[in-house]
Amino acid sequence: MTSAFANPQIKNTVQLPLGSIKEAVKFIIYLDYNYKLQPFDDNSNKYRFESRKFIREGAFIDIALLEGSGSATEIAVEVRKISGDFEKTREVKSASNHIKDIDKLIGNILKLSPEQKEMYKGVEASITPGKGLKEFTCSNCKKNFYANRKINAIAICPHCKTRNLVVSNSDGSGWGTFFETVFMVGNIFRGRK
Ligand SMILES: [Zn+2]
Repeated sequence: MTSAFANPQIKNTVQLPLGSIKEAVKFIIYLDYNYKLQPFDDNSNKYRFESRKFIREGAFIDIALLEGSGSATEIAVEVRKISGDFEKTREVKSASNHIKDIDKLIGNILKLSPEQKEMYKGVEASITPGKGLKEFTCSNCKKNFYANRKINAIAICPHCKTRNLVVSNSDGSGWGTFFETVFMVGNIFRGRK
């Protein structure tokens, strides 16, 4: 017989309106693709994410929001294993990393400008060449797609839907030249502490 540990959880009240926290929670998927938002009822103010990050067998991260008085919002986060209970201290510790991540992600999202949010959401790239479009190669399926050469943003591969970060030249020469490389945005955010 092994004794199960309690699910890691945290509850905190922030001085921000429910609406902005809801939007931030739903935006997590654009900043960290390790978190998959499950189907939800927006009126319930409850959101469940599935993730294989930190725990190989997978975990559910449940976020429940509650409207407080004077535009405050209570945020409750609980991490549970997809199947079974936490049986080892090490597992509980790993699961707690989700709470730290979610906390950091929501904090970062709340700081994003509308323009930055658009950038993170990305634009669907074209399957065919066109005026003002530049050819890129998808980091995942290696097929070519065409994206606006003026963007420094996420282009969604029209073939496989992988999100590619299309990078502008950072050497100060402006928009005239670009790095030919396109890489997965996930590599930038994933695992960064
Ligand atoms: Zn692709």
